[in-house]
Amino acid sequence: MTTHISERVQALAPSATLAMSQKSNELKAQGVDVINLSVGEPDFETPAHIKDAAKKAIDDNFTFYTPVPGYMSLRKAVSKKLSEENGVEYAPEQIVVSNGAKQALCNVILASVNPGDEVIIPMPAWVSYVEMVKLAGGIPVAVNADISQDFKITPAQLEAAVTPKTRMILICSPSNPTGSVYSRAELEGLVEVLAKHPDIIVMADEIYEHINFTGSFTSLGSFPEIADRVVIINGVSKAYAMTGWRIGYCAAPLWLAKAVTKLQGQYSSNASSIAQKAAEAAYTGSQECVAEMNKAFERRRNLVVELARAIPGLKVNVPHGAFYLFPEVSAYLGKKTPAGKEIATSADLAMYLLEEGHVATVDGGAFGMEGYIRLSYATSDDNIREAMRRIAAALAALA
Ligand code: PMP
Ligand code: GLU
Repeated sequence: MTTHISERVQALAPSATLAMSQKSNELKAQGVDVINLSVGEPDFETPAHIKDAAKKAIDDNFTFYTPVPGYMSLRKAVSKKLSEENGVEYAPEQIVVSNGAKQALCNVILASVNPGDEVIIPMPAWVSYVEMVKLAGGIPVAVNADISQDFKITPAQLEAAVTPKTRMILICSPSNPTGSVYSRAELEGLVEVLAKHPDIIVMADEIYEHINFTGSFTSLGSFPEIADRVVIINGVSKAYAMTGWRIGYCAAPLWLAKAVTKLQGQYSSNASSIAQKAAEAAYTGSQECVAEMNKAFERRRNLVVELARAIPGLKVNVPHGAFYLFPEVSAYLGKKTPAGKEIATSADLAMYLLEEGHVATVDGGAFGMEGYIRLSYATSDDNIREAMRRIAAALAALA
């Protein structure tokens, strides 16, 4: 049969984070001892009280369709969390629960971006933002912030990127892939610009809120000048080590939450009823597990930065959140492998590190910034030590 893949899907790049992780798993299945620093997911088990809530949900027959935007009890718990932890007010009716923050993001983009609309994306950015905007027919507008500015855009850069076609800006702090965290003062600078452009939707991806070593977190929703058009994206994947449960949400202006519900009602209905009850337990139960995991991530951050700094040629910033390091690797570009193959790009380097060094990383190009690689340090201290030893040896073998 002739294949008929839509132009929409043909235009889409596959997820590089998932692809690299898949490749690493394939090598492992062939018996190669690969350390996977590619996919960003906590290595911790989901806390026991959350698992128990899911088991109870099954026994209590929470097994039917739920309302499309999620159980009211979960949306109330999220609304309370947002108010108490972040100082932002979103009624339960303004919250739509989805299959992960990924679907929440895509829902909001599909529900508000028209073909030709521009979406400002500070780069480097998580692999899926650009593709989601393209899926909606929108135009991603990159604003670059490299390591020299700690991967954070300035108000002047933002102002310069705004046009009459700008429909949305996507801000991720703490950031995937760089770990950078905007301070309150830095956010204030951006908000000052956004306040002058009342038609821009501000999408704040706060999924790494709780993996933050600065001791404070400012939600973009907490600035009254723009609060009526801030969409907060968050979920349980990272904070509660629940990536497989697939629960995320958007908290949005009511008109947008309603549009998102209409869209989701036609293509995926509700997120899993059982996972929703587990997420409710995550939000209403003890938060000690979150603090404990954060402490472990901070220790690993210190370790990975120290080891990366000891490798000649790598330029390393100090990430203050998430669980990624985004070293600049351009000193190694143009060199040759022991087999005589040229490392022309950071993608070549990531592939070389996987095939020869047996460490899976992700090319910075996948995040819109060539000349860097991303390491996810959400793994054991021993794995981090061994991975960095292998990376150092593989890089030293380039000439
Ligand atoms: N946003 C960012 C920045 C992420 O890194 C991720 C992780 N994949 C997501 C959203 C989506 O998270 P999930 O769908 O697992 O909730
Ligand atoms: N957020 C993670 C990452 O960047 C998970 C994989 C994905 O969904 O892209 O690796």
